[in-house]
Amino acid sequence: MSVKVSRRKIRLGERADGSPYDLHILQYKGSAGPSVFIGVGIHGDELTGVASVWRLIDYLKGKDIRGTITIMPAMNPEGLNYNIRSIPEAGVDLNRLYPGKASGYIAERITAKVWEIARKHDIIIDLHTIGKGIPFVLLDPVTGDLKKRNDELAKATRITVLDELSSEDYEQQNLGASLGGVASKEGIPSLTIELGGSKDIDWDSVDAGYLAVRNVLNYIGVVDGTVTSVKSSVVIRESGYRREDVWSEKGGLIQYVVDLGQKVKAGQTLAKVRDLYGEVLEEVRMPEDGYMVAENSGHVTHTGGPIATIAIRMKK
Ligand SMILES: [Zn+2]
Repeated sequence: MSVKVSRRKIRLGERADGSPYDLHILQYKGSAGPSVFIGVGIHGDELTGVASVWRLIDYLKGKDIRGTITIMPAMNPEGLNYNIRSIPEAGVDLNRLYPGKASGYIAERITAKVWEIARKHDIIIDLHTIGKGIPFVLLDPVTGDLKKRNDELAKATRITVLDELSSEDYEQQNLGASLGGVASKEGIPSLTIELGGSKDIDWDSVDAGYLAVRNVLNYIGVVDGTVTSVKSSVVIRESGYRREDVWSEKGGLIQYVVDLGQKVKAGQTLAKVRDLYGEVLEEVRMPEDGYMVAENSGHVTHTGGPIATIAIRMKK
C-alpha cells in the first residue's frame, strides 16, 4: 500500500500588507477508488467541523486508502481569522455565491476556487454549524438516481437526516447557489452536514461530525472499517422529515422550554419570548408535529427573528 499525503496552500492573492491570501488543502491519494471532497468553514465562524477534521486526520494515519480524500479545513480563511461568518469587507453569504467568479471580488474568487477543486470529486461533503443544535445532514432537493445516492450516503452517516426547506423557501434563500446546490445541478452526490456550535467548537458535535464523515468513507470503501453508530449526540431515527425555520412575532429574550432533539406536538410551546422585566410577550409554538433541532444561538430576537430550526414531516 502506498498513500501519498500532501499539504499545500493555494494562493488566491494578497492582503493590503502583502501577506498571502491562501486556501489550505490536505489530500490523501491512495490506489484507484472514489474521490471525496470534505470542505469546512465557508462560513468563517463555524469551527466545530475543523475539530472533526482533526479527529479524521488521526484516524487516517497509516490507513490504506482506495481513492482520494481532499480536505479544505478553512474554505473562508479571512472569516476564520476574524471568527466571522462572512469576510471583513462584505456582509455577503459565501455559501450563496457558488459557482463564484475567478476574476470577481474576493468572495467570488474563493467560491470559484473551492468549486473548481470540489467539482472534480465523486462526492462532496460540506461541514457547517447550526448554533446550539443536534448534528444533522441536510439534503438538497434532487430526484432520480442522484436522490437515491444522496439518501444512501446520508443514511450511512448515522446522524439525523433532514431534507431541505420547502421549495419556495429554498428558492427564496437562494440555496441553489450553495455548494450543495451547485453540486446537485452538476449531478454530484453531496451532503451538507450541520453540527452544533457558533463561533466556538461544540465538542459534543465534534465526534458526530467525525463519525459521520468516517462512516461515509467506510461505506463507499475508501477506507476499510464498519459504519459505526453515533452515541455522543441525539439522533432522530424517523425518516421523512425536512428542515423548517420558526420565527418570532415579538422582540425580546428567548426562553426555550423543549430539549434539543425532543419530539414536539403541533401547538406545543417551543419557546417563550420575554421582555426585559420577564413578562411573556409571546409563546412560539410548533406549527405541526415534529422535532426540535436547533436554538437561535443568540437567545435574543426581534419581529421576524429566528427562534428555532425544527423538523417536520415532508408532504407526500
Ligand atoms: Zn454554515
